[in-house]
Amino acid sequence: MNRIAESYVKLVLAVGQHDANYVDAFYGPAEWKQAAEAAGKRPLPELLAEARRLLAALPPLAPLAPSAASPVPGSAADAADELPLLRRRYLERQLSALAAHVEALGGLRRTFDEESKALYDAVAPVYDAAHFQAILDRIDHVVPGKGPLPARIEAYRRRFVIPPDRVDRVFAAAIAECRRRTAAHVALPPGESFTVAYVKDKPWSGYNWYQGGFQSLIQVNTDLPIYIERALDLAGHEGYPGHHVYNALLEQHLVRDRGWVELTVYPLFSPQSLIAEGTANFGVEVVFPGPERVVFERQVLYPLAGLDPGGAAQYDRLQELLRDLGYAGNEAARGYLDGKLTRDAAQAWLERYALMSPERAAQRLRFIETYRSYVINYNYGQDLVRRYIESRGGTADHPDQRWHEFARLISSPRLPSDLR
Ligand SMILES: [Zn+2]
Repeated sequence: MNRIAESYVKLVLAVGQHDANYVDAFYGPAEWKQAAEAAGKRPLPELLAEARRLLAALPPLAPLAPSAASPVPGSAADAADELPLLRRRYLERQLSALAAHVEALGGLRRTFDEESKALYDAVAPVYDAAHFQAILDRIDHVVPGKGPLPARIEAYRRRFVIPPDRVDRVFAAAIAECRRRTAAHVALPPGESFTVAYVKDKPWSGYNWYQGGFQSLIQVNTDLPIYIERALDLAGHEGYPGHHVYNALLEQHLVRDRGWVELTVYPLFSPQSLIAEGTANFGVEVVFPGPERVVFERQVLYPLAGLDPGGAAQYDRLQELLRDLGYAGNEAARGYLDGKLTRDAAQAWLERYALMSPERAAQRLRFIETYRSYVINYNYGQDLVRRYIESRGGTADHPDQRWHEFARLISSPRLPSDLR
């Protein structure tokens, strides 16, 4: 298995020579990366054949034991025996996704759903305009003023923009609190930390670049106004207990403790991304359950941002409703990439049903054009992760069990079809 894992890492690095977005993180032996760069763009058919050879070399697949409530947190029996099985399944799905991505680089076009199945091991549910319209009707009652909702919401949200010169101190406070709360429930690796940098002209609003050695670089895009809720969304998603903690725990428990080299590389267009994005989004709820979020925002973040905390409760209600519109972005992407919506129609859909400003909808379209069906990993990933953790007793009214299941999930190479 170690030999297959090593070949898999080298193959991911080779595919990365064809696609600069593909290798999201690599902290394995530097000479493997140098060798991949020296070899340049190896022919795609050669890479595909290599992926198939490795798939064929995997030992036969043993079934996972029926899902049972996990043993006492921290006990020796806690999920340990399951890990080698998960490893075998992980390598298989990551390799098949790699093969699918190589085919796409060679010009093969799949439908949106076929692509998400091949790359992320999942197909997102379809919602029609009426579904989103019902949510918009509820939002209509929360947003003050008269006239068309998109313009009204834009005007209302302007009151909640963090002034640019205060963004950094607000984020610093949000990150510190997310870290404090996470560390109370999850044993963080020694010396873990990250740096935050502010960037412009990117198709995303935030990004975590894991560096290895329990370090991350978190970039925040400042092209568009940053609203107050972004502080905890970003601190939780990119930092604690999201991407930074996820990558650091995988490095600690699987790379360092077990020597599983396959986790030193993170291919972006692979099933791992659904787990990464789904846990990062769900992690924001785990770290700030129920009303605790708005309490912290009102008491700490609003004053730091120089915003009036009087409007926090109403704005928080709006945020909850807006989150239900998350799937509207999938429909714009599916319609556009499947050729059923023009670019302009997809932009209009995002403005109308996802309530994005024209500038934000344009940024999202750039994201869709760059990352395609990756968009499902955020909302559908979050729902799959929530259902999985709740099915194991990690419900909102059992916070300790919820943290335990969350930490267990982000310390293992579990993949989307293992969640169902
Ligand atoms: Zn993310």
